[in-house]
Amino acid sequence: MTNYDVVIVGGGIVGSSTAYFLRKNGFKGSIAVIEKDPTYAKACTPLSWGGIRKQFSNAENVHLSTFGLNLIRNLKSEFGPESDISFRETGYLVLASEASVSVLEENAKLQNSLGADTVLLSQSELTAKYPYAQFEGIAMGSLGRTGEGWFDPYGLLTLIRKGAIAKNVTYLADEVVAIDAGREAKSVTLQAGGKIGAGVVVNAGGASGGAIAAMVGFDLPVSAAKRYVYIVDCPKAPEEFRKGPAWFNTDGVYWRPEGRNFLFGFTPGEDEEPKPDWEMEHHWFEERLWPSAAERIPVFEEAKVVSSYVGHYDYNWFDQNGIIGRHPSLPNFYFGNGFSGHGIQQGPATGNAISELIIHGEYKTIDLKRLGVERIAANQPLFEKNIF
Ligand SMILES: Cc1cc2nc3c(=O)[nH]c(=O)nc-3n(C[C@H](O)[C@H](O)[C@H](O)COP(=O)(O)OP(=O)(O)OC[C@H]3O[C@@H](n4cnc5c(N)ncnc54)[C@H](O)[C@@H]3O)c2cc1C
Repeated sequence: MTNYDVVIVGGGIVGSSTAYFLRKNGFKGSIAVIEKDPTYAKACTPLSWGGIRKQFSNAENVHLSTFGLNLIRNLKSEFGPESDISFRETGYLVLASEASVSVLEENAKLQNSLGADTVLLSQSELTAKYPYAQFEGIAMGSLGRTGEGWFDPYGLLTLIRKGAIAKNVTYLADEVVAIDAGREAKSVTLQAGGKIGAGVVVNAGGASGGAIAAMVGFDLPVSAAKRYVYIVDCPKAPEEFRKGPAWFNTDGVYWRPEGRNFLFGFTPGEDEEPKPDWEMEHHWFEERLWPSAAERIPVFEEAKVVSSYVGHYDYNWFDQNGIIGRHPSLPNFYFGNGFSGHGIQQGPATGNAISELIIHGEYKTIDLKRLGVERIAANQPLFEKNIF
């Protein structure tokens, strides 16, 4: 049986970042990343919007995303002068009705105290700043003037993955179907047959995080949540709108410019949560997204869907936040799961955090103890108010 000191299950942004930062932080042992689909066709990472923001309600989330932002800002020194992931730092604009103003104010206070450049805009300020939009029913907007925007998520994964391979990390194309564990995790069984001995196992399985945890008998509330992305053409959209922020309307509908088009999505209500298959449902755009967006941005009256796709969130059904840390009773099994729509920006920091736990037995950069699995057994959710 081949043995590796660290076996990482899943080679998306979390698994690849864990491998990359293990090396960067000085880990000398052998590392294997086992990835069942090296094309990443259905993985969360390449299907993501690639958004990064500091507008969160939990300090940990602000810190995790700030780590990602710093990596993106230092991309060329980290990965070489050719590195480019088309980062557009044009902000998130989150809108609130009168009833939610206090939440926006509270969040902005926290974000500002952690160095975020979040500003609150009144209805009249919004109207002056975005003359092509209509703000009836909106009492306030919060805008991240810097440090927020979007980038090419697959580009970032490719840089980190290549960086890990250059630092002597082995990628194996196979599926982990079982994990042998007693007092510790011992080996993983592969779909193609055979086992790989493991000094440490990391669960970085994205939407399959719950299924991988179940292999060691752990009930992790993480599985796929289906989300729809509509790509929309709107020839009459003014240039300033195309160069502006991502918009988050009060009803869970959001959109942002993408090249000559716009990307649209929405957060379904609890009673609307779709089955996690790969079927596209076109009616949502007509019924929910279009009316909401056209009311806010009248030029969207003439918008047309030109393409669409389905992606799966790695959804944490317990409290929609990342679950990061060590298994409570298997000391060599680690989790990096459940990011629920904010994992592309937090994958690098998560990988760094898991590498610190493996190397030092404790966090060195960001204290993420509150994101550990212990909160699930204790039934103490750490809710994030800003989930898109
Ligand atoms: C439509 C959409 C929009 C999003 N928008 C954003 C956004 O704007 N900003 C943001 O921060 N995040 C966003 N996200 C979320 C983000 O993409 C994810 O949180 C993040 O990519 C999770 O990374 P991961 O490495 O954990 O998962 P993945 O990228 O899914 O990687 C996990 C890998 O594990 C592999 N795997 C699973 N099981 C096994 C097994 N048994 N054996 C071997 N390999 C296995 C899978 O093939 C997969 O490649 C979005 C997601 C979607 C779907």
